[in-house]
Amino acid sequence: MHRSNGALRSRIMAVILAAALLAGVFSSFACSSSDTTAYNDPGDYNDPDWNDPDWNDPDWDDPDWNAPEQTDDPDWDDPDWEDPDWEDPEYTGDPDVVYNPGEAPELDFVVADLSEPLEIDTYSDSEFLDSRSLMIYDADYLDLFFSYPSVSANEIIAHIDANPKIGPQYKQLLKTFVNSIAQKYPDADMRPLDFNIQTLEIVECDEFELAMHTLSLDAYGCYVNSENTIYVPKDYTYRPGTWEYQVIMHEFGHAARTVWRDDPELQLLIQLSSDSFVIPEEALNSIFTVSLFDYEERDIAYQLQSNMFLILVDCCDDYTLTDYINHSLSYFAHKLDLQNGNNNYATAIMKLIEEQRTDWSNNDYERPQEVYYPIYHYLTKMYLDKYASSGMSSGEIDALVAKMLDTVMFDVPEEYNIDTAEFYRYAHEYFGA
Ligand SMILES: [Zn+2]
Repeated sequence: MHRSNGALRSRIMAVILAAALLAGVFSSFACSSSDTTAYNDPGDYNDPDWNDPDWNDPDWDDPDWNAPEQTDDPDWDDPDWEDPDWEDPEYTGDPDVVYNPGEAPELDFVVADLSEPLEIDTYSDSEFLDSRSLMIYDADYLDLFFSYPSVSANEIIAHIDANPKIGPQYKQLLKTFVNSIAQKYPDADMRPLDFNIQTLEIVECDEFELAMHTLSLDAYGCYVNSENTIYVPKDYTYRPGTWEYQVIMHEFGHAARTVWRDDPELQLLIQLSSDSFVIPEEALNSIFTVSLFDYEERDIAYQLQSNMFLILVDCCDDYTLTDYINHSLSYFAHKLDLQNGNNNYATAIMKLIEEQRTDWSNNDYERPQEVYYPIYHYLTKMYLDKYASSGMSSGEIDALVAKMLDTVMFDVPEEYNIDTAEFYRYAHEYFGA
C-alpha cells in the first residue's frame, strides 16, 4: 500500500523474485525436453504419465514426449496461473509448519514505562555546504518550508485540473478525497497534499509492471513517495463501496502526509507520521481513509492493526483524526501516555502491534501469545476506562469486552491465533468484578 521502507521493500522483492524464478522454472520445464533431472522429478511434474517407461529411452527427448496433455496442464502451463500461496507477500506460511518460538529474535525494545521521556517528533533542519536537509514530522512546523499559511480545497482542485499527468478518473477521485477532507476535517493542513498534487503522476500499468512497482501481485495501487507517483492497474474503474476504492483513497492518504524531494540544494522530507512507525501509520491511514466515506467500511487495510487503532483513537479523549493528519504518531503516543498515566509506554505498544504484524507475515517463527498480552491489556484498560461504570456486574463487563472484541477481531486471519480469553481475564482483574 505504501512503498518507501527499504527493508520491507527488499523482503517483498525477495518474494517477487522467488515467484518470478518459480514461474521461470515451470515455463522452462514445460518448453524444454533436455532437462532429464526435471523430467525425473515426480514432485514437480504433474503429468500422470511421468513414469512412463519411454522416458528412459535414449530418444526420450523426442518432441512427442512433450505431449499436449503435459503442456495443457492448467496448473503449470498457464502463464496466468496464480498460486495464491506464493504470490501474496503477506503469505504467512504453510499452516502445517510447526513454529519454534525459540527462533524468534528478541524484541529490540522494552515493554514497560521508560525512565527517559518520550521525544515528540517535530522537525530537523541542518545545512552542510550548499545543501539543506529539512525533515518535518508535524504540521506545526510546515512553515519552515511553505511560505503561505494554508491552502483551500478550491486551490487544490485547480491544481488537480491543471496537472496533465492525472487522468480524468483520477482527477475525479482526488477531488472527492480533497472535498471530503475539507468537509470532515476543516482544520487538516492540506499543504503537503497540494504540493504533491502539482507534480503527482498517476501511471496505469499492465499486470506485470504493477507487480514490479507495488511489489505485490494483487495490488490496486501504490504511492511511491520518492517518485511522487501512484501506480494503478490499467483501465481499472474504481467504484465506491469496493475494497479497491478504499485502496486508491488509502494511497491518496499517503500523498497527503508524505512529501519527499531530493534536490542538490534541498533534501526535503515531510513525514507527518514520523519515520519510526510503519505499520501503525498504515493502520491509521486506513482508518482515516474510510472515515471519509459516507458509508460504513469495516473491511479495511491492515485489518487487525486498524481494528486495534480504532479502539485507541476512540478511547483517547484528547486525540482526533484531525490530529492524525496534522501530527506525528509520537504526538499520539504522548496523548495516550498522558491519558493513561504512563511514562513513555505507548510507543512500546505501537511497536508491539507492529511486531505482531511482522510475526504474522513472517513464516520463520511465531511468538507465544503472552508476548502480545500487553497490547490486549492496554486496549481493555482504555475501553473499560471509557465505557465501564462503577457497580457493573461481571456479566456486564463480559458484555463490554465482547463488544470491544467485535471491533478488534473483525475479519482477523486465524493465523494470528489471538488469545481472546486474555481480554476477558484481564478485564475482570482490572475492574475487580
Ligand atoms: Zn499504505
